[in-house]
Amino acid sequence: MGLFDFLGKKCDCPICGRPNAWEARGKVKCWNKECPNYDAAYRREHAPVDVGSEAFEKVDSGWSGKFDPGEFRVKVMYRTAQGENRYYEGDVRTIRDVRAHISMRILPTGRRVAFDKSRVKNLEELKSHPASSFHDPKPTAAESKVLRAHSRRGTTSPLFETLRQKYPNYE
Ligand SMILES: [Zn+2]
Repeated sequence: MGLFDFLGKKCDCPICGRPNAWEARGKVKCWNKECPNYDAAYRREHAPVDVGSEAFEKVDSGWSGKFDPGEFRVKVMYRTAQGENRYYEGDVRTIRDVRAHISMRILPTGRRVAFDKSRVKNLEELKSHPASSFHDPKPTAAESKVLRAHSRRGTTSPLFETLRQKYPNYE
């Protein structure tokens, strides 16, 4: 993304009609390789991703940030309540398994977002990722209470330190 791209806006490409093109200062960038507006860098970030026969479009929150987990970046393929296919990108190491949901820190701000498991189309892929925290041991209810209380107050104790080591990814 260029420095002044925030001045532009999402649009349907005026030439090929595909959604998720970008218009800025009278110029359109399109992810469609067959289109005269095609832009390679734009495609890398914004092209829809196919899962089976379905295309998922990237969610653009309109926010900017520097959160980038590099090699730990993964996509969450998600069907919204409105029946639209969207994908989010986040840090696989921050996935938390919470009953009917998973939550993860997402780009570009690092904000934590919850996803309904039944709507995540690549749940098995995320679960089986070697860096996924699905494999981490989960604190018991009593341990969570200690971790939460100290994290919130910014205090510590020998028990807290032991639990921090046992659950390094707990936030
Ligand atoms: Zn186009």
